[in-house]
Amino acid sequence: MKSYPHSKQSSLIDAFGRKIEYVRLSLTDKCNLRCFYCMPKNFKDFEQPEHWLTFAEITRVIRAFTELGVARVRLTGGEPLVRKDITTLSSQLTALPGLNDLSLSTNATLLKKYASGLQHAGISRINVSLDTLKPERFKQITGGDLQPVLDGLMAAKKAGFNPIKINMVAMKGINEDEFEDMVEFCLQQDFTLRFIETMPMGATGDDANEHYLDLQIVKKQLAERFDLIPGVMPGGGPARYVQIKNTRLRIGFITPISQHFCETCNRVRISVDGTLYLCLGQDDKVELRPLLRAGITDDELKNVIIKAIALKPEKHEFKDKPEQVVRLMSMTGG
Ligand code: SAM
Ligand code: SF4
Repeated sequence: MKSYPHSKQSSLIDAFGRKIEYVRLSLTDKCNLRCFYCMPKNFKDFEQPEHWLTFAEITRVIRAFTELGVARVRLTGGEPLVRKDITTLSSQLTALPGLNDLSLSTNATLLKKYASGLQHAGISRINVSLDTLKPERFKQITGGDLQPVLDGLMAAKKAGFNPIKINMVAMKGINEDEFEDMVEFCLQQDFTLRFIETMPMGATGDDANEHYLDLQIVKKQLAERFDLIPGVMPGGGPARYVQIKNTRLRIGFITPISQHFCETCNRVRISVDGTLYLCLGQDDKVELRPLLRAGITDDELKNVIIKAIALKPEKHEFKDKPEQVVRLMSMTGG
């Protein structure tokens, strides 16, 4: 007998009353860049391909989530565009009746090639990581070249993606002289801008801590130059938004450390090997791949997901226990 709730209204609610309605799906833990705060330079300990969830397995898991009331999924990584045939997977996912928002987080290095295909496959929104507009600095932060990223952004714009959100990790001693330039760039290009605080994750945790910058300081700095008014962004997630008066530009602040937003957390994450992680900053998890490969039924899968949600921790402890080593950000996609 089925024991999961049928009502999409009440399906996935955790022990703290939070409704889970959003899944971040990592398609690969590999990346063609090496942002120093995300992945160690010589990191090679990647998941073996035979452990990657296949497209059929991914679609099955996401179908189960949609039948439990999740309507929004974001493809991430690692760099999701390095996974072969991502447009095929995107089409399979957007064909699921319960899914009404499939979005993508990317470093945009390969976006020029894929933008139009992804738009046709039904990806609705794109977030692009961009911490600097200076080619030399881009190389220092990521190990790669800036131009393909800018080309990718323009291709996304041409393909009709709207909004396009730029995610800029604000880092003391690295890019704190560029916040206003990035605002100007986003004003010109009609992009949305979001600043992110560094989080101490895995082996890159010390680097992230060293350059941590409280976004309240960034906001004050911007308020001296621009006329900021309160703003809202539909589907804006944990970001708190302001808008520059008399413009369309919205600026979001994602403050996992200075003002954490765990009490309204509505998401879970699935890594490339099919592990369901319940919190970005904790290790609580359920491995779905062995169950899928052992022949679990769809109803059993839904029950496993419901039980897993009950294990979702109340909050991360990045601030209280920065030394606590959780996995790398590239495993679960931020
Ligand atoms: N490769 C894609 C990209 O860069 O957008 C998707 C995956 S990446 C892990 C997702 C987001 O996590 C990016 O915006 C990146 O800047 C952010 N990120 C990675 N490591 C971080 C850290 N230690 N602190 C804060 N943000 C981090
Ligand atoms: Fe790659 Fe994104 Fe991590 Fe940078 S932040 S190393 S682009 S996964």
